[in-house]
Amino acid sequence: MPAEVVENSDPPHCQVCGGGDCSPLIRHRDWTYHRCADCGLVFLHPMLDAAALAELYSNPDSAGTRAYFRKVGSKLRRARRRVALLAHEVSGGPAGKQFLDVGCSGGFTTEAARQAGFQAWGIDPDADAVAHARQHYPGSRFEAGGLEDFADSCDVRFDAVYCSEVLEHVADANRFAAALSSLMTPDGVLYLTTPDIGHWRRPRRLPAWDVFTPPHHCLFFSSGNLRRLLARHHLEIYRRRPAFKPGLKVLARKLGED
Ligand SMILES: [Zn+2]
Repeated sequence: MPAEVVENSDPPHCQVCGGGDCSPLIRHRDWTYHRCADCGLVFLHPMLDAAALAELYSNPDSAGTRAYFRKVGSKLRRARRRVALLAHEVSGGPAGKQFLDVGCSGGFTTEAARQAGFQAWGIDPDADAVAHARQHYPGSRFEAGGLEDFADSCDVRFDAVYCSEVLEHVADANRFAAALSSLMTPDGVLYLTTPDIGHWRRPRRLPAWDVFTPPHHCLFFSSGNLRRLLARHHLEIYRRRPAFKPGLKVLARKLGED
């Protein structure tokens, strides 16, 4: 990841709608989150810069990555269910199609995709997790690094992209969504999940919410502003899966150019 600093706008403004009416919502430990009055995006401000984020995920103690190599059996079973759902959306089926697992960690979903017939790729900023994934699942390709750099250098276009619980970690949602979109084939399909701050079951007190974990989670979306973000990058949500836990689970397709 380049050591460039994500610009900390001061005063804060909303990445999704550009709105400037963003009052502080909560201060928790050393971190302050603001809320956009227009679209409801909740975001860390000042935002971590790219170097700080890279540091966060290069530290094996910080993000609990070791835990990803426990309960392998149940993780693979869950991954297979999600891959089956995505495979069903790919026209012509998964055989020989390109699958990208964004934030692949230990490579379980990547492996499940390979087993389903996809050409499977996984990418994760945690080099340690990627090393484990390569060792355990040699039938897939794994890249260590950020999605934006990968999108700049990768010539492959993906028919299916899986991006679960990653968007909330990024500092610049537009760069990230643009990278996702650019990596997809014209009829590519995206399965994305992220916490839902607008969900009726979200604990009223944010610190009581299990995913409110500053500073790892920089951005908290709800259904409207997620739809708006993706649409800015030519991705249309065409189905929302019901979620009993406060999360968004959406399927999106590339919108035609023009
Ligand atoms: Zn906004």
